[in-house]
Amino acid sequence: MSEAAKPATLPETQVPKTFPARAYAAASPTADLGPIAIRRREPGPQDVQIEILYCGVCHSDLHQVRNEWQNALPTVYPCVPGHEIVGRVLKTGSSVKKFKPGDIAAVGCMVDSCRTCAGCSDGLEQYCDNFTLTYNSEDKHLGGVTYGGYSESIVVDESFVLRVPDGLDLAGTAPLLCAGITTYSPLKHWNVGKGSKVGVVGLGGLGHMGVKFAHAFGAHVVLFTTTPNKTADARRLGADEVVISKNEAEMQKHLASFDFILDAVSAQHDVNAYLGLLKRDGTLTLVGAPEKPLPVAAFSLISKRRQLAGSAIGGIRETQEMLDFCGRHGITSDIELIKMDQINQAYDRLLRSDVKYRFVIDTASLK
Ligand code: NAP
Ligand code: ZN
Ligand code: ZN
Repeated sequence: MSEAAKPATLPETQVPKTFPARAYAAASPTADLGPIAIRRREPGPQDVQIEILYCGVCHSDLHQVRNEWQNALPTVYPCVPGHEIVGRVLKTGSSVKKFKPGDIAAVGCMVDSCRTCAGCSDGLEQYCDNFTLTYNSEDKHLGGVTYGGYSESIVVDESFVLRVPDGLDLAGTAPLLCAGITTYSPLKHWNVGKGSKVGVVGLGGLGHMGVKFAHAFGAHVVLFTTTPNKTADARRLGADEVVISKNEAEMQKHLASFDFILDAVSAQHDVNAYLGLLKRDGTLTLVGAPEKPLPVAAFSLISKRRQLAGSAIGGIRETQEMLDFCGRHGITSDIELIKMDQINQAYDRLLRSDVKYRFVIDTASLK
């Protein structure tokens, strides 16, 4: 285990009271996920205790469970993944203002941050120098690491708990907390809207939300897929055109024509093929985080002053803005609801690009 992956321990006197919770965890990079008993802290003054109803299954959960990001974010085992959480508030601490028992609430990829660095001051907690991820981060309260949403409950500081607008299907809302904000944020940052020609690469959990948002923002949306039988779905979700990326002739038709391309691919692929589709000063933003580096040819960027960028989830303020936008426009994720014990098959299907378009765990199945 590397230094960074070593769980922290706290002096006994500083550990708060806890209660038990059922969860699912991986014990090693090669083990299936299975049941585990974990402990959650009793809510402190600022905390919200949430009974989890639904948790989305992000490809990041799979990367993390299998320790595919061992250089950037080494995994501590047991690992309880899950950062697309929707639930019902059970208890609130004495200082909590935004929530009361019975409210529907949501939690995404972060449960805390330093609150003083430049990122935090700008409402960009995802770029904080010392944030706490929902799982596999140092747990400042209990020691060890944080445990995510493949669980029946979670306790989170209210500053990192989101309000869910009325009227949205709750299972379809869960994926907004990662897949939603991770695509909404870069589309906003790079000013995608009416008059933009936008590409989305990969029709998975992130990609299908990218298509929905880019369409809702008024852009001309082209979806690139390796899976020909996703064409009709892509159009239904809001794509104006669909390109089968293995088809050279179809790709050539779009050379040097895009303002912006959002790359949401989870595995090895040729980014140069997409950089070549950007017009002068166009930007390709990676949100996909494959295990291995992606080779970039200098001339893909030099010719036409193109830019290659990256983007991580979104800040808390922007996540609330995105949820409110979804509330106004009736946007949720297209999901396949699964029981907790179907998670290992779900991971196998993710690896085959076979999900329509996000698995969501019905956490009642943990009971
Ligand atoms: P997903 O549902 O598995 O979708 C990935 C899609 O990529 C697949 O559906 C497939 O689309 C395409 N794809 C898969 N293998 C491919 C290959 N070898 N070549 C070309 N295309 C391939 O995954 P997801 O949950 O959307 O996550 C996507 C990536 O984003 C993951 O790496 C995840 O870790 C990362 N992520 C990043 C952030 C962030 O903050 N930046 C947040 C969340 C997730 P087609 O069938 O249409 O080709
Ligand atoms: Zn995620
Ligand atoms: Zn910070």
